[in-house]
Amino acid sequence: MTATAFPTPTPSATLALDVERLREDFPILSERVRGKQLVYLDNAATSQKPRAVIDAVTRFYSAENANIHRGVHYLSERATIAYDAVRGRVARFINASSPAEIVFTRGTTEGINLVAQSYGRSTLRAGDEILITGMEHHSNIVPWQMVAAQTGATVRAVPITDAGELDLDAFDRLLTERTRILAVVQLSNALGSINPVRWLVARARERGVVTLVDGAQSAPHLPVDVQALGCDFFAFSGHKVFGPTGVGVLYGRSELLERMPPWQGGGDMIETVTLEGSTWALPPARFEAGTPMIAEVIGLGAALSYVETVGREAIGAWEEELLAYATERVGALNGVRLIGTAREKASVLSFVVDGVHPHDVGAVLDDEGVAIRAGHHCAQPVMQRFGVPATARASFAFYNTRDEVDTLVRGLRRVRTLFA
Ligand code: PMP
Repeated sequence: MTATAFPTPTPSATLALDVERLREDFPILSERVRGKQLVYLDNAATSQKPRAVIDAVTRFYSAENANIHRGVHYLSERATIAYDAVRGRVARFINASSPAEIVFTRGTTEGINLVAQSYGRSTLRAGDEILITGMEHHSNIVPWQMVAAQTGATVRAVPITDAGELDLDAFDRLLTERTRILAVVQLSNALGSINPVRWLVARARERGVVTLVDGAQSAPHLPVDVQALGCDFFAFSGHKVFGPTGVGVLYGRSELLERMPPWQGGGDMIETVTLEGSTWALPPARFEAGTPMIAEVIGLGAALSYVETVGREAIGAWEEELLAYATERVGALNGVRLIGTAREKASVLSFVVDGVHPHDVGAVLDDEGVAIRAGHHCAQPVMQRFGVPATARASFAFYNTRDEVDTLVRGLRRVRTLFA
């Protein structure tokens, strides 16, 4: 690999967050669980919601609820304007060149399935290859296996190193004249590795390969610029970026979206319908059949505004500091092995404790009010690669503190004492 493949981290000194004040924006963070102050370290699974998001959804249902697009009445017009305005906000958030490139989905999973079943199914032929990596979430593996079975294409995967980085030499070997699609995660939910996506995408595009980036974990933690990344598709989920569940985004370059067939039929995605046949609306409507998740889209808009107000550079800088602190403290504990030690990481600390099943680690921490995740994190191939059935995973957001890391460490000491 080349030295330029990994970006230099942003210096953090000048970017300070008032974390204690920001925590007040999240009502749930002051909850007690099992008689203890909640320490929420499961942000990779889903993030907590600021009052701005909760209020936006409540306001919509209390005063503005109506279906969009076909109504002629006041509320429907307002709901339509509010819904469509979020498309522009999302476009700005990821620097898409137009709101027409933003398709609302149910989440990252649905976005990837959409690309597999629309773009993939209509273009892949027997002998074609889809290139993924060994650190993908199941949602960036299974949809490709399904479309491969439908078309005769093959799925290949770039292996990962012991540190949890992509083997870039292997990537170069696996990217061949048969490769049609590259689908790669930007930030691994199981390992925390940040992949050199810009470099990978550039390499793929030189060969005319269409690229999809799974941004489920990167969107909440790293500034995202889809034009700078150069990717054709980028998918992320609202609920991981402090917005509601049930809503997500698929960015697609207009040129591609315009050529793609719909993958679901129904209301709102058509231009004309007769009993003999139908014609399709332009994107993004072509890919949004039926009544969409209107309140959730409005909540997502509020979430992105909130994140922008906090400041994405400052979020990145604080989380980098927090992860370094947690890595040092947890890594120093006897009998704890970190899984995923890539040079470029964000937000995720996966580990195993000698002789203790991760579920037991999770249960002891839960008793202390500390919420982490234990399991395969929907990344079974990663567990297979590292020879473990599961890991314990602490994952951070900008509202987490050093004190919370200290509570985690105290809990892990207790795990060691209980199971020694
Ligand atoms: N990709 C990654 C890297 C993820 O972490 C997740 C969620 N854990 C997904 C995809 C799927 O996201 P969702 O369940 O919101 O569709």
